[in-house]
Amino acid sequence: MAKYFCKHCGQEFYDVRTLTQYPCSDSPTSMHVPYEGEESSKYFCFYCGQEFSDIRTLTQYPCSDSPTSKHVPYEGTIKDKYLCKHCGQEFSDLRTLTQYPCSNSPRNKHEPRR
Ligand SMILES: [Zn+2]
Ligand SMILES: [Zn+2]
Ligand SMILES: [Zn+2]
Repeated sequence: MAKYFCKHCGQEFYDVRTLTQYPCSDSPTSMHVPYEGEESSKYFCFYCGQEFSDIRTLTQYPCSDSPTSKHVPYEGTIKDKYLCKHCGQEFSDLRTLTQYPCSNSPRNKHEPRR
């Protein structure tokens, strides 16, 4: 049976409908938001590139780079290289990508394309 995770708090649900109907204290919209990436053995924070073994752990820790102050999972696949979605610059890992300033990005940091 497929499992769905909220990308803001890491809570697990058996269907997306249930997930989206319940309030979430960690979410900027106050509702759970489904993680749309693939299930994997490792997950990276979209904002800082830190690596975690599961979404639940990732979402429990504070992130100084994230607008919600919590890590948010990157929803793309794991690749050999990552492109910034704002400027297209190429990086070999998410950790490096998220550390450098980007003049095209609203946050002034590169953000990975999926
Ligand atoms: Zn949630
Ligand atoms: Zn982070
Ligand atoms: Zn960029």
